[in-house]
Amino acid sequence: MSSPGKSPSRLQAEFKVDDAEVETALSGILRDSLTPVTLGLGILYALLTVGHLLVLPAGIKFLMAGVATGTALLFLGFYLYVRKHTIPLAWANPLGLVIVGLILFNSLLHLWLTSDPLQTTNVILLVIGAGLLFLSSKWLILSYGLSLGGWLLVALMSPPHPSWIHFGFAVVIGMTVSALAFSARRSSLVRLERLRIRDRLQQAELQRRAIELETSIGVGQKIISLLDINSLLHAIVHFIKEQYGFSFVGIFLLDAASDSLVIRAASGQNADELMKRGWAIKKDANSIIGWTATQRQPYFASDVRNDPHYLQNEWSPNTRTELALPLLMGDSLLGVLDIQCERLEVLSAKNIPVMELLASQVAIALQNASLYQSEARRRSQAEILYDVAHAISRTLDFSEVLNLILQELVKIVPYDRAAVLLREDNALQAVASRGFPLQITLQDLRIDGDDIFDQIDHSHCPLLLEDVSQRQTWQNLTGVPVARSWVGIPLIQQDTVIGLLSLAREQGEPFSEEEIKLATTLGGQAAVALTNTRLYHNLLVFNETLEQIVAERTQALQQAYSELERIDRAKTDFIEIIAHELRTPLTILHGYAQMLMQDQAIQAMPHQKQLASGIYTGAERLHEIVNSMLDVLKVEVISKELNPQPVDLSILARQLVKSLSTALEERHIQLTMTWEKPHLTVMGDSEMLYKALNHLVINAIKYTPDGGKVWIEGRNVPAAQSRLGQDAIEISIHDTGIGIAPEEQEAIFLKFYQTGKVSLHSSGKTKFKAGGAGLGLAIVKGIVKAHKGVIWVESPGYDEKSCPGSHFYIQLPA
Ligand code: ADP
Repeated sequence: MSSPGKSPSRLQAEFKVDDAEVETALSGILRDSLTPVTLGLGILYALLTVGHLLVLPAGIKFLMAGVATGTALLFLGFYLYVRKHTIPLAWANPLGLVIVGLILFNSLLHLWLTSDPLQTTNVILLVIGAGLLFLSSKWLILSYGLSLGGWLLVALMSPPHPSWIHFGFAVVIGMTVSALAFSARRSSLVRLERLRIRDRLQQAELQRRAIELETSIGVGQKIISLLDINSLLHAIVHFIKEQYGFSFVGIFLLDAASDSLVIRAASGQNADELMKRGWAIKKDANSIIGWTATQRQPYFASDVRNDPHYLQNEWSPNTRTELALPLLMGDSLLGVLDIQCERLEVLSAKNIPVMELLASQVAIALQNASLYQSEARRRSQAEILYDVAHAISRTLDFSEVLNLILQELVKIVPYDRAAVLLREDNALQAVASRGFPLQITLQDLRIDGDDIFDQIDHSHCPLLLEDVSQRQTWQNLTGVPVARSWVGIPLIQQDTVIGLLSLAREQGEPFSEEEIKLATTLGGQAAVALTNTRLYHNLLVFNETLEQIVAERTQALQQAYSELERIDRAKTDFIEIIAHELRTPLTILHGYAQMLMQDQAIQAMPHQKQLASGIYTGAERLHEIVNSMLDVLKVEVISKELNPQPVDLSILARQLVKSLSTALEERHIQLTMTWEKPHLTVMGDSEMLYKALNHLVINAIKYTPDGGKVWIEGRNVPAAQSRLGQDAIEISIHDTGIGIAPEEQEAIFLKFYQTGKVSLHSSGKTKFKAGGAGLGLAIVKGIVKAHKGVIWVESPGYDEKSCPGSHFYIQLPA
């Protein structure tokens, strides 16, 4: 191949002009000049005939005129012949010599007849003319020899005359002049011809390279524009054939299985027929294509008739030359590019480099196309896997998913029939199928006790049967066409084979390893679909059961709640009745006890006086309890009965402490009051708030052993620290009493709630651990709530020995 930066010496060497070619060209020039020369000489001798008749003496004039006429006729005859026919190049010089001979004959005859040395001038003119006619020195010398020999012969035969010597010199001078003219003309013509030939060669070479370049670019363009391998190969062979005018161009690809080269694309003689038959050539050294494949070298048969590797065949009877080139990609052989030609000159060794380039382009195209195809295949596989995964997540209808899997699988793993079979006891039952005859239903697809499934179940691996007829235990279902190859993919769920994906082909290649891998992936998806469905089904059942249980429990709770409500109502009604019923006799008892105590006679008797006093105290206590019972019943409606007005809590507390002074003294309890300000006023019902503080302080005294301490504190609490979310007034009552267990600190605010055993309570309002009705705190909470406040207790715990104390807090809106 040439390149633009090539050195001139190499170019010259490449276009070296052959001398023989130049000589041939010169002969061509001579041949071309014969036409005008013969015509001119014909006319000249016709004129000479007339001249002879007019000028020559009577003795010779008729002879000379006759000879001249004959010569003129001969020249004209020559002229007519060479004009009509292209005479062979080899005749050009001999014909030239014949012409010279004819003229010489005329001149010598004239000389001999006249014996006048002056007529030598004709010979001299002839010699000079020969120098202008011939372009070959050999023939020119021959003509010189002939002329000089003839003249000498005539001169010797003629009577001696001193002029002969003079004219002899003249002849020699004529020859010298002629030789000079000849060499000048010849050398310029040789140079011209050389240039012309070189130009022609260069043009031919340029044209050849242009075609090569065009072909290479054309093939490159096809490689870029066509991705389908078959169309690409066809386009390439067709293009190469048209570009060079070859009679056949074919691409054979290596088929590893049969170790042969199979035609994949062809253009030219019988191409369609060869393609139809899938022409294959063994990869051995017995054919040109086979040799190229085994040796991985180009093979050029310049004439197949004499070539030992050429295989004569009926498809290309007229092939004369053949060139086969290996299609190589790295170390691996892809196939062979084969070119055949019926004309020897069209395909030559010169074509080999560019054809090698084309072959490497074809190899790249094959590689690209195969990469593209595998990429496209991989993409379509990924898309299918995505679609299937998407379908599984979209629906819980497993037959829809399984049918989709079978439908998508056939696109990447072609099969004739497929089914998803699930294990049912000792049999396999189809749950989805594709490709079976219409009359075969899913129920018909049932296989009982199958050793093939047992094998898969055991191995947990796919099982491939390349030819099912080889398997003795193969069960062919009636009405289903016989399968050739078969593969079973296990469907595995938590390490258990739950069924199989069965794929069958009626003909063609068995399933490949890659196909089995893909089918296994989709089989995995099928197992996931089945698992999902089962899980969903279980979830549905579970949900239903759960809903039922919840409904039953709700109903039971409802019943229990209504029952509790009824009991609570009955209790409240009972308390109300009891309280009201007890009030009247208690008032009477209280009145009579009072009367008894004031009676003079009883006053005089200490025992009776003590009894009357006991009756009075008991009646009083009972009265208080009955009042508490009525208070607690009112707790829910307290807020409606409130009579709000400014209440100074410190004054209220002082009144309360005063009323409890006897009890405090009796129990030796020291009560301390601390007020942040002298007056802490809230809006509220003073009677109710008094009642609330009274219960809390009485409790503090009640649950503090003798000699203990009780504190009452009052302070303002800013909104940020207040539990009310606004400015508040906080009253806290704490003691050094028995404390309250953390788990009871909520419950003590409930109605009738008491800690400890009721039977262990001592009686009396302010006695240590004096029994109450468990109503005090419930009433306090009701009152605080009615004033939009909060109440809570803090205590490290309950302990009668260490007496950790309790700390009650009330916050009311300021
Ligand atoms: P009771 O009439 O029984 O005192 P209360 O409703 O006033 O009923 O109190 C409920 C329970 O809270 C009491 O039985 C007692 O166990 C507990 N309690 C209330 N105040 C105190 C306190 N200052 N110290 C310890 N325990 C207390």
